[in-house]
Amino acid sequence: MTTDALLSVQGLRTWFHTDAGVVKAVDGISFDLSRGEVLAIVGESGAGKSVTAMSIIGLVPDPGRIESGKVLWKGRDLVRLSERELRGIRGAEIAMVFQDPMSSLNPVHTVGRQISEMVRLHRRLPRRQAQDRAVEMMELVGIPHASRRAGSYPHEFSGGMRQRVMIAMALSCEPDLLIADEPTTALDVTIQAQVLEVLQEIKQRTGTAILLITHDLGVVAGMADQVVVMYAGKPVEKGRTADVFYRSRHPYTLGLLSSLPRVDLRDAGQRLRPIEGNPPSLVHLPAGCSFHPRCRFARCPGPCSEEEPSLGTSDHCAACHFSEEVARVEVAMMHDATGEPAVREARRPSS
Ligand code: SF4
Repeated sequence: MTTDALLSVQGLRTWFHTDAGVVKAVDGISFDLSRGEVLAIVGESGAGKSVTAMSIIGLVPDPGRIESGKVLWKGRDLVRLSERELRGIRGAEIAMVFQDPMSSLNPVHTVGRQISEMVRLHRRLPRRQAQDRAVEMMELVGIPHASRRAGSYPHEFSGGMRQRVMIAMALSCEPDLLIADEPTTALDVTIQAQVLEVLQEIKQRTGTAILLITHDLGVVAGMADQVVVMYAGKPVEKGRTADVFYRSRHPYTLGLLSSLPRVDLRDAGQRLRPIEGNPPSLVHLPAGCSFHPRCRFARCPGPCSEEEPSLGTSDHCAACHFSEEVARVEVAMMHDATGEPAVREARRPSS
């Protein structure tokens, strides 16, 4: 744990005991997040990203449970706290924004009321002050005519504006950490960019740390300071964003980068290779490296199908037996003719 870490997740394991067997949804993730930092957890659905977030705030659904590990929040282990103690932290110190704002907003109350109720609950402000705070937060997230729109109902907002309302609500109690779980997945590309911009601005203005959960490495590019890439419940690559993007050490990360939408192949000179196949069952993981059936670098039979690679502990680490070889593949981020992000692969010369 770094000395200034606000959140330090250490060896977290969250498993689901089902009739079909033990689903190791999260199996040994560790990371530190400091004030004002953005850490992104990336991976396909089922990789364990959302369960990691739920574990942090003590909302693991049945039949899941935290098997081992620590979630140190300002030095206190949240795993050991009672539900009552956790309720005091959720919303006030750690807030969450989900993918679908409609399912989190109450359709029968105005958004102003919902935000001000949140403030009253956690900050114990008088009604009038809580209402002012609601309008202030709506202005902060860029909702035009905030004082008038505070009297509108959720269905009167567009998808992007509803997501801003959720962010306003989450930030209304000045949390130290905002967990944003696929906050832009349901939105079109332009609105996605606007919502991400709002998060970025908020981080700069308030110093709130952000844990961003996403399947899309493109979303992470301009926003995260650190990235943890998850595959089949385990972290497979971890490091500063620039390192993970430009010196990827795990074939799965390379695959995610190569799968970014709007790839321009016209002058790439080499075909891109998205990840083939599907993620494995978390009950019956492949032996050795669980990515080996989909990995184009795999040596099977051999170390990849026989020995599970460990992640390591360096600042930029990857759970791959051949991470040095993988690091020589360069994925160039660029923009295509329409200005959209695109990627192309090349091989760095061996040094
Ligand atoms: Fe691929 Fe082998 Fe590395 Fe696993 S250990 S990611 S199978 S090269």
